[in-house]
Amino acid sequence: MSRFWSTIVSELTPYIPGEQPKLPDLVKLNTNENPYGPSPQVLAALHEAANDSLRLYPDPSASELKQTLADYHGLNSAQVFVGNGSDEVLALAFMALLKHDAPLLFPDISYSFYPVYCKLYGIDYRTVALDDAMRIRPEDYQGPCGAIIFPNPNAPTGVDLPLAGVEAMLRDHPDAVVVVDEAYVDFGGESAVALVERYPNLLVVQTFSKSRSLAGLRVGCAFGHADLIEALERVKNSFNSYPLDRLALAGAVASLHDEAYFQQTRQAVIASREQLAADLTELGFEVLPSVANFVFARHPQHDAAQLAAGLRARCVIVRHFNAPRISQYLRISIGNVGECAALMAALRELLS
Ligand SMILES: *Cc1c(COP(=O)(O)O)cnc(C)c1O
Repeated sequence: MSRFWSTIVSELTPYIPGEQPKLPDLVKLNTNENPYGPSPQVLAALHEAANDSLRLYPDPSASELKQTLADYHGLNSAQVFVGNGSDEVLALAFMALLKHDAPLLFPDISYSFYPVYCKLYGIDYRTVALDDAMRIRPEDYQGPCGAIIFPNPNAPTGVDLPLAGVEAMLRDHPDAVVVVDEAYVDFGGESAVALVERYPNLLVVQTFSKSRSLAGLRVGCAFGHADLIEALERVKNSFNSYPLDRLALAGAVASLHDEAYFQQTRQAVIASREQLAADLTELGFEVLPSVANFVFARHPQHDAAQLAAGLRARCVIVRHFNAPRISQYLRISIGNVGECAALMAALRELLS
């Protein structure tokens, strides 16, 4: 607190990301990063882009990346927005599209950044409880609202809402924007991008951080009707003309061009997830059905906070949320085969 702070700053409760400890030999399964490195073609593109042209500003409209994304998804570039990570895309969407007189709706258990943006922009919101199986029920969102946002698959549960459910919400709310945050969709979910042409109230947000192994490059994107994209552009151009630098633009385009690597690493993560879920179940954990690059699990006989502390003492870091309904769960990112084995060894020791 300082007397120099604006009122809004004094009242903020910022989001706290998973920690990035600087310890060697850590098995880091706490922030849903991809255990595999980026495509070698991305690294080559970054090297090539690191040249004298860095003295020049990047393309403020990121035209090449937008066109590449549009081609990838069968859209036109006016239906595509890009930003400095999907957190930035979401921040712009909250201001541009989600602030209305009626409250914004999102699940009681979901990305904990959403209430932070609401506070920042003074957006009225109401949370809607997931059902007992931790599923989003579209019926529970019926009735008047300003807008809706949810992750699909949901975070931190990993549970997905089938596309028919997403479509039901879009149909129930023709006059409200529905934002689907698809940070983890490439690990087995059904993308709503295919619905963009049919629903002018749909905005789909995706990221290069998880399935494309580029959390450090900061690239996110959104797909929707050109009117929604224009709203995002208006806010972006009132804030920062160049959110994506030359390296990020080059790396993101190269990533989209290496489909084989994307498929290979995404399938490897999915295979490890299925193995890890089976191994955890065998140890007595209840594991929610995940289509993400993490699992959300609890053990009926062991306190989650103690398990997290025990894992940490064994140099394995997972995420524990001290929040209602989920305080007995651990969110465990899918590591490579060795990391999953190290996690299981540590857990076996702790449970024995
Ligand atoms: C990781 C994540 C994001 C943000 O990813 P960026 O790195 O900012 O692109 C957005 N939404 C959810 C649900 C996430 O888990």
